[in-house]
Amino acid sequence: MLKSNSCGELKKEHAGQRVTLAGWVHRRRDHGGMVFIDLRDREGIVQVVFNQQVSQETYQLASSLRNEYVIQVVGEVVPRPKGTENPKLATGEIEVIAKELTILNLAETPPFYINEDVEVEESLCLKNRYLYLRRPRMRDNLILRHKAIKFIRDFFDAKGFIEIETPILIKSTPEGARDYLVPSRLNPSKFYALPQSPQQLKQLLMIAGFEKYFQIARCFRDEDLRADRQPEFTQLDLEMSFVGEEDILQLMEELFTSLVEAVKPGMQVLKPFPRLSYKEVMEKYGTDKPDLRFSLEIKDISDIAVQTSFDIFRSTIDAGGRVKGISVSGCAHYDRHQLDELINLAQGCGAKGLTAIILSSDKAKSAATKHLTQDQLEDIANRFEAKPGDLLLIVADKLEVVNRALHELRAEMARRLNLGDVNLLAFAFIVDFPLLEWSEETNGWETMHHPFTAPQEKDMPLLDTEPAKVHGRHYDVVCNGCELGSGSIRIHHRVLQEKIFEILGYSREETGSRFECLLRALEYGAPPHGGIAIGLDRLAMLLAGEQTIREIIAFPKNQNAVDLMLDSPSYVDKSQLDELNLKLKHEILRFAQDNKRCKA
Ligand code: ASP
Repeated sequence: MLKSNSCGELKKEHAGQRVTLAGWVHRRRDHGGMVFIDLRDREGIVQVVFNQQVSQETYQLASSLRNEYVIQVVGEVVPRPKGTENPKLATGEIEVIAKELTILNLAETPPFYINEDVEVEESLCLKNRYLYLRRPRMRDNLILRHKAIKFIRDFFDAKGFIEIETPILIKSTPEGARDYLVPSRLNPSKFYALPQSPQQLKQLLMIAGFEKYFQIARCFRDEDLRADRQPEFTQLDLEMSFVGEEDILQLMEELFTSLVEAVKPGMQVLKPFPRLSYKEVMEKYGTDKPDLRFSLEIKDISDIAVQTSFDIFRSTIDAGGRVKGISVSGCAHYDRHQLDELINLAQGCGAKGLTAIILSSDKAKSAATKHLTQDQLEDIANRFEAKPGDLLLIVADKLEVVNRALHELRAEMARRLNLGDVNLLAFAFIVDFPLLEWSEETNGWETMHHPFTAPQEKDMPLLDTEPAKVHGRHYDVVCNGCELGSGSIRIHHRVLQEKIFEILGYSREETGSRFECLLRALEYGAPPHGGIAIGLDRLAMLLAGEQTIREIIAFPKNQNAVDLMLDSPSYVDKSQLDELNLKLKHEILRFAQDNKRCKA
C-alpha cells in the first residue's frame, strides 16, 4: 500500500516511529517557515508539519498544496510541544514531522467546504455527492450504518435465521403505494414491478419450510417524497413460522436494545418498550407514531366545552366533533405574534382555528374566557393538570382534524422547548389496530396494513356484520415520532384470505390475477406465520441523530425522485424504446426539449 498507517490511528504510542501516510489535504495553515497540514483519510485527521529547517525542498512543495489535494507523506511521529495539544482531535497529542512529500493528485476547489459542516444548498450537495461524502460527519454516518447492518446480520444468524435474497423483478405487491414498473423486452406489453416489499415472497418462504427468514432488502415505492422517504429504501425484512405477536415484539426489543448498546453506547433506550393500543395513542397523541420522549398529552374537554356558551365549542360538538387540547408549561408569556404562528400551523392542518388560554398567575386570558364561567375555566385547567404559567392550546373540530392539528402542535412545541432529548430513543409498539378502515375516496374498505394480516380471533364473528370493529393482528414499532416498521401475524388459510379480498372489494378476476400463487400455496400446508419489516434508513437516521434519511444514504434522490449526480431518470434512445415495444405519449415534448437543450 501507499501508506504504512492511517492518519486517524496515530497516538502517543507511535511517537518515534517513521510512518508513511496518504490522504487528502483537509486544511492548510502557513506560519512562515512552517506549513501545517491537517491530513485526512477514512480513519481521521492528523497534523503534519513541514518545517523549512527539516527540508527546504519538501517545505516549498508543501507551500503549493491546496485543500483536497491527494498527497503521500513520509515523516516521524512526535509528541506535540506542551500547550499545543488538541484535545478535540483523536490524534491531538501528536503530530508528524514531514521528511518527504509526494503530490499524488491535484484537486479543483470544491463547490462547498468539506472541512466545515456548514449547510450546502441541496442540489449542489446531491450533484457533488462524492465530495459531500468526504465530510467527516457523512463518513461517520455511513460507517455507523455499516456497523448497524453487520450487527443485525450477526444477531439474526445467531438466532437461527437465514438470509435469503428475493428477486427485484417481481409482480405488483399491495403495500399501498404506486409501483415502479419495468417493461419486459421478451414479453411485449408486459411489465415487471419492483418490490414495494418482499411480502408475498417471504410468506412463500414460510410455506416452503424455512421457518426463520430475514433479508436486508431493497424496496421501491413510487410515492411523494418527504424527509423520511426515498423512492428506494432498505428494509430489515423478516418472517417466522409458528409464532404469535409477542414472539416478534420481544425479538425486536432485544434487537434494538442490543444494537444501540453495540453501535451507539452513548444513547439511552427506555426499557421495556411500552405496548400501546392504537386507540390509546390516537386519543393521547393524535397520531399512531407518537414521540414519547416527552409527555404533552392531549386531553379531551368535549364534556366541559358542551356546557359553555362559547359558540365555537358548542357548534363543533353539535356537529359531532371534539374539543381537545394540550397544556404547554411555561409558555404563558407568548405574545400575539407567537400565538398567530401556532394558529397558522393549526389552520395548515385544516383546523378552523385554535383557542389559546393563557394561565397567568392572577387570571386566565383568552378570546374564550368571556364565554366561560370561573368553574368551567377551573374544570378545564384541572383536566389539563395545568398551573399558572401554562398555555392551553385547544382545537375544536372534526376528530381527524383535531388529531392532525394537535399532533403538529405537540411536535412544534417540543421543538421550541427542546423537549426531545437527542440522546434518548423512546421505542414503543403500537398494537390493536383496526383491521380495516373505510375510504371515502373509493367508497370501500381498505386495510390498515396489508391484506395478508390476520384478524384477531376474538373479532372473527364481526367480519361479516361490523367489519369496522375487527382488530388486526398488526403491530407497528415507533421511535421518537417516527414509524420504524410494521408487521403482522398473517392469514394462513385460503378461505379466510379469500374472504378478506372479497371484503376489500377485489373481483374474482383481480384476486386470481394478482394472488393466485399465494392462494394456491396456502392450500399446501401453510404454517401459522408472521413477521415485520423495519425501515433501516430511518433506524440509521435515528442512531446518527440526523433529521433526514438522505444523510445516511450514500447516493439519495431529491424531492422529485431525481438522481442529480448521474442525471437519472433520463431519456433513452428510440431504438431502446422500439426494442421494448414502447411508444412515448409525450414524444413531441421530449424532442422539443432535446432540441432546446442542443441549441442552448
Ligand atoms: N411488508 C410489510 C411492509 O413493508 C411489513 C410486514 O408486514 O412484514 O410494511
